[in-house]
Formats: sequence, structure tokens, C-alpha cells
Amino acid sequence: MKNSAIVGINWGDEGKGRIVDLLSNKYDFVVRYQGGGNAGHTVLNEYGKFALHLIPSGIFHKGVVNVLGNGVAIDPESLLQEIESLREKGITVDENNLKISDRASLLFPWHKALDALEEDRLKNKKYGSTKQGIAPFYSDKYQKKTIMVGELLYSKHLKEHIKDILEWKNLTLTGVYHENPIDFDALYSWCESYAFKLRPFICDTGKLLKKAEQDGKSILFEAQLGSLRDLDYGIYPYTTSSNTLASYIPLGSGLANINIDEVIGVVKAYSTCVGEGPFVSEWIGEEANELREIGQEYGAKTGRPRRVGPIDIVATRYGVECQNATSIALTKLDILSYMDKIPVCTKYLLNGKTIDDFPFPFELEDCSPVYEYLDGWKCDISKVRKWNDLPKNAQRYVEYIEKNIGCRIQYISVGQERNAYIKR
Ligand code: GDP
Ligand code: MG
Repeated sequence: MKNSAIVGINWGDEGKGRIVDLLSNKYDFVVRYQGGGNAGHTVLNEYGKFALHLIPSGIFHKGVVNVLGNGVAIDPESLLQEIESLREKGITVDENNLKISDRASLLFPWHKALDALEEDRLKNKKYGSTKQGIAPFYSDKYQKKTIMVGELLYSKHLKEHIKDILEWKNLTLTGVYHENPIDFDALYSWCESYAFKLRPFICDTGKLLKKAEQDGKSILFEAQLGSLRDLDYGIYPYTTSSNTLASYIPLGSGLANINIDEVIGVVKAYSTCVGEGPFVSEWIGEEANELREIGQEYGAKTGRPRRVGPIDIVATRYGVECQNATSIALTKLDILSYMDKIPVCTKYLLNGKTIDDFPFPFELEDCSPVYEYLDGWKCDISKVRKWNDLPKNAQRYVEYIEKNIGCRIQYISVGQERNAYIKR
């Protein structure tokens, strides 16, 4: 059976959760392979409206096993809250449909504290972190200073390991940031309140997925954020601290030799970007406010207003290349229905020259957008379910983007609800 990935092409919030929710009933497993609880994947279905942070968006389908791979930052406190809030709305989350990799690392309260302390220290040079501890978590992981989830099953060893790491971490908290040290007993009781409750979900998910592959099961990988936030390929340093690209799947999922048959890149019909960093096609003022309101562009995790603007072909084409996308799901086309003329950023102007290749991150600050304008369709398309029923100008907009980003647009989403889409 087929293995597929659903990944973000832009700055995140493209609608990945919505597309995973749409397609995941065709798969046996849905796997998150990077990032952490800073994700906000919105899903609207028969159970209600949800913003998922750590739990894969396949959780709503019976029979789908949801996996948090070794590449994910596991924050026990947030994860348990998320499990509880899903259960309150009648969704089953148990050790049969949620599995956590024993090789994933734990995100501790000091990661969140350090994230906030560093953002405060940076003042107006801050990165725009969601303060979920992601950057301190991944830097600790690279320094081999995290606790793996599987260690929760080895109590005696765990205590020693936590003591060692705490001794080291308190040097930073007290020496660099002049904070109070974290006390071992307080931390251990935090483990008892939260981390130990994850024990039933822990297993060797690499082995589980390998067996699934051998048995001909199909796996869907769900990414967080988008190409432009990838640590290595994105707009560094305004990236996240993990790799958001599909090429990280073999590392972050526990399936080192996996072949991905299909990479569906999710692209929003216009641009949004949450947090700091260069954003060439950004709109400011009235036209931004109008698009933000109509598109309801507020962060699913933080409620922060998202920065908005026209679609950026230069960045999107780069994002498609980075993800090696085999097809595209274009979301929120319905939101553009109010525009007479729809601007499309096709090139950048940099030092008097037009460029169409995505430049080195530090040059982005000096780039300005070059727009072409396409005719709008000026009618409600949210009920359209067939390509031929889309107004001609909406078809032209889709075809124009498809041609210029060099990847087939297979799905067009025209609403938040699961069935509000067109398959070409
Ligand atoms: P993710 O982080 O990539 O999963 O995306 P978010 O959930 O943060 O943001 C996407 C938002 O757009 C969510 O509120 C979705 O419900 C909504 N959405 C997705 N597709 C469509 C669409 O085609 N039309 C409209 N109107 N809303 C959509
Ligand atoms: Mg989001």
C-alpha cells in the first residue's frame, strides 16, 4: 500500500490538519515525525472544531493508529491536556490508537521557561517564539541532554539521569538568566503528575511501523509548519528548530529506509506568516485587516493575528522544490472571492534587479514584491464540489499558480468542513 506525506509548503498554517483529516481514513497509521506542541492544526468535522497540537490529525478516524515518532518533542503536560480535551468531546484516545516512540525525547518545564527568558532577553530582536520550549528542547537534544520517553519505564535509571541533567540545566538557569534553580523533588513530582501517565502509550514505534509496512499497511506522515520554517532550508534564524521537510521523515519516524510514494504539499491561496521574520509579499494596513478578517487568520495555538498578503510564487516554488512535492492541496480559495483583482507576487525586486529564485535569507529584507493581477470571480464558491462548476476566473487562478510553482494542484479546498473540497 501507499505511503504518503502531507507537508506545508509555506510558513505553516496552510491547512495541513484539515487535509490530513480529509485523507487519513484511507490510511492505517498517521505519524508525526518532527516539531512539538507548538503546532496548531485545525480540524472541523462531525465531532466539532479542534486545534490539535501534538496529536496527529488522524485521531478522529476509528481504526487509524496515531504515532508520535522519535523526532517529536513530547511535552507530557500539554499532551495530557490535549488527550483530556479530546476525550471530553467524545473522541477515543487510548493506548490502541495513540503510540509514543520510546526514542522521542521529553520536553520539560525548563524548556518552556528558557524559551520565554531568551525571548525576553532578545526584546525587539526576538524570534517570535510560541514559547512552547521548542528551541531549547532541540538544542538540548543535539547536546544529548534530554531524557528519552522510554526512560520513563526505568525508574531507578531515570532518577539518576534527571539529577545529572538538572545539575547541568540549573547552571544555565541561575548563572545565565539569574533565575532560581529547579528542585529535584518538585521536578520528580511533575513527572509523577504528568510524564508517568504517558507510560501506557510508549512503545518501539519504529518496530511497530516496520511490521505495519511488511504487512502491507499504509502510512500517512503529518508535518508541522512549512518549508520556509525548516531549520536548514528556511528563513534562518526565523525558522523553527526542527526539520519540516518530507526528507526528514525517515529520521524522525523510526523508519530509516522508508520510501514515500506521494508528498502532498499544502499551499494556501494567499500568504500568511505568524511570528517574526522577512515576509516579502506582506500587506500592512486596511487591505491586510480585510484579508485577515475574511480569512480568520489568527493563530490556532496562540490566537496571535497572522501577518497576511498575496500568494508568493517565488517562495512557494522554492517550498515545493524543498519538499519534493508530487502534488498540491490548495486551501482557502473561497477566501479570495471578495477581491476584484487578485495580486500574485511572481518575482522579487532586489537591488534594482528582478529575481525569481528564492534568495539567501538575509537578502529577503531588501526584496520587494513584483505583482501580476488576475481577475477575481466575485461569487461564493464554498459550495462548489466539482472543477467544472468553479467560475472560469477561479479555474484560471488555480491553473496560473499550478503552472508557476511547477506542481499539479490535485485538491482545492473551499471551506473548513471536511467535505468542502474539489478533487481534480
Ligand atoms: P495547519 O497548521 O497547517 O493545520 O493550519 P491551521 O489549522 O493553523 O490554519 C488553517 C485554517 O484555515 C484553519 O482554521 C482551517 O480550518 C482553515 N481552513 C483550511 N482550509 C480552508 C478552506 O479551504 N477554506 C476556509 N475558509 N478555511 C479553511
Ligand atoms: Mg497551524
